[in-house]
Amino acid sequence: MDGSLEFPVATPPVPGDTVPIAPGVHWLRMRLPFALNHINLWLLEDGPGWTIVDCGYALDETRDTWQRIFAERLAGRPVRRVIVTHYHPDHIGLAGWLTERWEAPLWTTEKEWLHAQTHAREPDEATAAFRRAFALRAGLDSDASGIFAERQGGYRRGVPSVPPAYRRIGDGTAIEIDGRVWRVIIGEGHAPEHACLFCAETGVLIAGDQILPRISPNISVQTQEPDGDPLARYLASLKKLRAALPPDILVLPSHNLPFYGVYERIDELAAHHAARCDEVIAACARPLSAAGLLPVLFRRQLDRHQMGFALGEALAHLHYLEGQGALVRESGGSADAVNRFVACH
Ligand SMILES: [Zn+2]
Repeated sequence: MDGSLEFPVATPPVPGDTVPIAPGVHWLRMRLPFALNHINLWLLEDGPGWTIVDCGYALDETRDTWQRIFAERLAGRPVRRVIVTHYHPDHIGLAGWLTERWEAPLWTTEKEWLHAQTHAREPDEATAAFRRAFALRAGLDSDASGIFAERQGGYRRGVPSVPPAYRRIGDGTAIEIDGRVWRVIIGEGHAPEHACLFCAETGVLIAGDQILPRISPNISVQTQEPDGDPLARYLASLKKLRAALPPDILVLPSHNLPFYGVYERIDELAAHHAARCDEVIAACARPLSAAGLLPVLFRRQLDRHQMGFALGEALAHLHYLEGQGALVRESGGSADAVNRFVACH
C-alpha cells in the first residue's frame, strides 16, 4: 500500500536517542504497551530552549527515557513549551508531568484539552452503564460490551494528569519556533480538533495521527456522541489538507517512518475508505449490526483493546453511509434494541 511513498530514513531512533530529521527538528521514539508498539515524538530547537511536540504514554519506562534525553540531548537548555496534537493517551499522556517538570506551558486546541479533561475524569456508574448500552446497541453480547465500560480506566492509566490550563491554538494559528513559522492545520475525524503543524519555509508537516504512512488512522464513533459521523469529517479533512499542502513536503507522522508522498498517501487513505464502504454496502444486503460487520472489516483475530477500536470503526462506516443515503437504520423501536443497517435498493 506504500509503494508510492519514499522513506528517507529507514531506521528509527532507539528510545533515548534522537535523530535530526529536518531543519531544527529531532526525531525520538517511545515504546507503547499495545500492538502498535511505538510513537514518534518531536523535539524542536527553540532559541534558548526546546519545544516538545507530543509526550508519550505514561509508563515509568517513558519517564526514564525522557530523563535520559533531558540529561544527554538538550545541551543544558530547558524545555520552554509542550505542544500536543490531540488528546489520545500516547500523545497527551505525560503532558502533566512534562509541564510540571519544566514549568512550561501546554499548547493545544480547545477541544483536545476538553476531551482530555473529560476522559481523565473519575468514571461514574451512569457513564459506564451508558457505554455498555452503546455496545449492546451496536450488537456486542453482554460479556464483550463490558470492554466499553472499562475503557475510561484505560485512558487514566495513560494520562495520569492533564495540565489544569493551556494556551489555545486553532486552525491557522502561526507558532513561531526558532524564527520559523509553523502554521496549525486542524484535522477532524480521528480526534475532534487535531493539530497538524506545517512549516512552509522548510516544507515539513508534523502530521500527528491525521495522516499515517502504513496504517489507516482509527476513525471511530465515540460513546459520548453515539450518532456521530467522524468518517465524513475525516474525509473532508483529507481534502482540506491536500489543498493546503504542497506535494513535495516531508511528513512526520506519529507512527511508522517519516515520508515523502503526501498527496499519494492522502489519495490512498481516501481510496481505502471508499473500498471499505463498498464492502459494507455489499455486506448490508441483509440487515447487519456493527458487531455483525466486524468479520467483514477485520479478517484477523481482535484482542480486547482492538475490539473497542474496531467496533467504533465499523459504526463510523455505517453512520457515514447512512448519512450518504446508501444505508438505512433499523433500530427496532426500543432504546436498547440492536441497531441494524441495510442497503437501500
Ligand atoms: Zn490518535
